[in-house]
Amino acid sequence: MKLRERPIAKAKMIGGRLCLDFANTVGGRRLASTSEKKGGTDYVVREDRLTDYFDLLAWSLRAGLLTDADANRLMREARRREEAAAAVWKRAIKLREAIYRISAEIAGGKQPRGDDIEILNQELAVAHGRVRLALGEESQFLWEWIDAKEALDQTLWRIADSAAEMLTAEDMTRLRQCGGEDCGWLFEDTSRNRSRQWCVMKDCGNVAKVRRFRSRLRKTK
Ligand SMILES: [Zn+2]
Repeated sequence: MKLRERPIAKAKMIGGRLCLDFANTVGGRRLASTSEKKGGTDYVVREDRLTDYFDLLAWSLRAGLLTDADANRLMREARRREEAAAAVWKRAIKLREAIYRISAEIAGGKQPRGDDIEILNQELAVAHGRVRLALGEESQFLWEWIDAKEALDQTLWRIADSAAEMLTAEDMTRLRQCGGEDCGWLFEDTSRNRSRQWCVMKDCGNVAKVRRFRSRLRKTK
């Protein structure tokens, strides 16, 4: 399948920040049941939409991190180095879930876990080994990513960097988690009166409205 024909290449980008859109590459997340909790997880991912390395490439195209030419080159590279591509995909999922947990804790007014910050720091160490100073056109210095044509993990550098940028921003009070059932998507609320509750009104917002309507109906019976 061509990269742009994969479902993830049409992912909704509603987070307002690269790292949040990346965290939203799942159908949703729900709280774990008691028996699932015994297995050590607090939540369960519903429909993981990053099913392999090629989905990571397709999403990166969608996010504008890669050109078609870059993505096609990485696709060929991944076919040649299957194990390395699978390892990058595993790192991507680990990073994504760390970004999700850190952001969800902050949105909920809680302290993120140290081991999640450690996962992010490991990716940042890789990413920061890939930046350099370059002289811009008007003699000012710029940070730029080193030319990394064959580096399979290049989009992870930018995602980790986006997360670090978000976490070091002065104002994090706009970070929200969708109130939809089993959704949990993350976004930055840029509405003027800070009233956004839903990832996408027509998805989660309407479901909630219908549910409220039904429960009112039940009460009046
Ligand atoms: Zn939602």
